[in-house]
Amino acid sequence: MAAGACHDGPVTTTDHGPAAPVAATALRPLRLRAVRLDGSFLGDLQASNATVSIPKGAEHLEQQWDNYRTVAKGVTDTEYHGPNYEDGEAYKWLEAVAWEAARGDDPRLQEWLESRTALIAAAQDEDGYLGTFVQSGRRAERYGQLDFDHEIFNMGAMIQSAVAQYRATGRTALLEVARRAADHLHRTFGTGPGQREGFCGHPVAELALVELYRTTGEQRYLDQAKYFVDAHGRSILAPGNPQRAAYLSDRIPVRETTAPEGHAVRAIYLAAGATDVAIESGDTELLGALETQWQNMVGTKMYVNGGLGSRWDGESFGNPYELPSDVAYGETCAAVASVQWSWRLLLATGSPRYADLIEWQLYNAVLPGVSLDRSKYFYVNALQVRADADDTDSRAPGNGRQPWFGTSCCPTNLMRTFASLQHYVATGTDDGLQLHQYAAGTVSAHGLELEISTDYPVSGRVVITVVGPSDTSISLRIPAWADGAEVRVRDEVIPGAAGSYLRLDRVWEAGEHIVLDLPMTPRLVHGHPRVDGIRGSVAICRGPLLYAVEQVDQPSGVLVDDLVLTDPRLTEVPTGGLPNITGSGAVHRLPENLYAATPAGLADVVPITALAYYQWANREVGPMKVWLPYQPAVSSVDARTTS
Ligand SMILES: [Zn+2]
Repeated sequence: MAAGACHDGPVTTTDHGPAAPVAATALRPLRLRAVRLDGSFLGDLQASNATVSIPKGAEHLEQQWDNYRTVAKGVTDTEYHGPNYEDGEAYKWLEAVAWEAARGDDPRLQEWLESRTALIAAAQDEDGYLGTFVQSGRRAERYGQLDFDHEIFNMGAMIQSAVAQYRATGRTALLEVARRAADHLHRTFGTGPGQREGFCGHPVAELALVELYRTTGEQRYLDQAKYFVDAHGRSILAPGNPQRAAYLSDRIPVRETTAPEGHAVRAIYLAAGATDVAIESGDTELLGALETQWQNMVGTKMYVNGGLGSRWDGESFGNPYELPSDVAYGETCAAVASVQWSWRLLLATGSPRYADLIEWQLYNAVLPGVSLDRSKYFYVNALQVRADADDTDSRAPGNGRQPWFGTSCCPTNLMRTFASLQHYVATGTDDGLQLHQYAAGTVSAHGLELEISTDYPVSGRVVITVVGPSDTSISLRIPAWADGAEVRVRDEVIPGAAGSYLRLDRVWEAGEHIVLDLPMTPRLVHGHPRVDGIRGSVAICRGPLLYAVEQVDQPSGVLVDDLVLTDPRLTEVPTGGLPNITGSGAVHRLPENLYAATPAGLADVVPITALAYYQWANREVGPMKVWLPYQPAVSSVDARTTS
């Protein structure tokens, strides 16, 4: 199949079989094996995901597969393992296995694909229904509780897993299961004769069905995704209960929604699925509404790290500017979903702001979800943990990362994201290649063969070698934070405008180098004045990374909770990898009473040490803060007179 003629899925093109017509997008994904990550930051992340996280995931999920075994045997009176949505999480793990199988030679990968696929196929009902919770007799009827039983969600995750398995390996066994499930959904839900109105309280099938359409070329799967998207917003799932409807993204139709609300993961999966529908059906009005929704999310409802969802209650978005640091929810899955959404908007529009957010969330909202040794996970990602935090919920950051959760969405979502990371690196157009994310490795597409060497984000230097001659243009994303970026080509130094693509039109000779230098000087970020809890505070950033202060790095006797940054000048401290950052500060003088007539002054001058936020809670779990109170003008005088 010629490169330009094959169909473009959201994370990769398929190498196999028939496909739907190519949608008119600004950018197109590359073929499956066009990008290879090779060592350095993202490559090492992908490799350790394969060698540690995925095998451990297999162990954690082992019991889950017993549900399929009992269903296949027709047994209904045995113990059921896990919550009603755990089928879906097992499929996410299997999706990670599929992406890895396209690249890795671990024989376990093939065995897992074969054995788990066989179990899934054996459990599927004759008419295509698949959902072990209901099939094992935990409900008297199918679809009795659409708002919370996750039946369509589970089938959606299975379809995603099947598409990944097909694209990665050419295996069709799970794809056949997916087709039968999708046909069952198509027969069951809609406005036609014999169908019923409804959709799942937890979106994901919308994304999955568009992917199945792209993979098979069957229009009915796109139609079904469109139906599910359009069915939202009429309170079908929560009649007369606007609060519940908001939780379920069912209060306002998608094309009238101006900012995401309710359960964050649900809202963003729905937005991503709706974006896929808009792309494939050429619905520019829907796409415009989704861009507005994205803009308002980023402008009023997103934490500085890219985290989404400020309320534990309903795992939900709060009101605009309601972004408390200490009780932030910021579910890891919400950031994963947001990366998926931004990727679709990037393809649709070509706007660098979407690639910017993908990078920012990958480093600062997705990556913090897993420990440096890739064996433990955060479900919730707060931006502050106080001294003596008393959290009983295992999801609370004050308890540290956990080996697993009874609801395993976050670990399995991380696994499939890291296993498919290379898909987010580059795209193509008829006349060019666009590099969106910077990582060491190779890119081979659109008549270009590139070798990329970099230790980014340790340094900001990216060296791109054009291996063979080519006249394909190369566009480099200059991140919005990268004021002062420069590109050197031949003897020319070209300034890169932050928040844009720098397009290089050349007739490339074999062996030519392009050197991109992104400025990595530490910088301070201020919050919007309407975000109350961070008013008068700053966050430290360096390149694509947000930093945090962690108790273990501060001088003895100095509590993170009391730190104030008093000087804008920051210094990098080499560590052999990512540098730490130090600055000058002071500690608050602690008043006797909770409330007083005068503000608390500053006491001792102290150095402040920060590390990349994603690295926190890997040595010990103690107080941590992203936002530091900032008093640069008065503090130096105050500190001198009081220390
Ligand atoms: Zn999750």
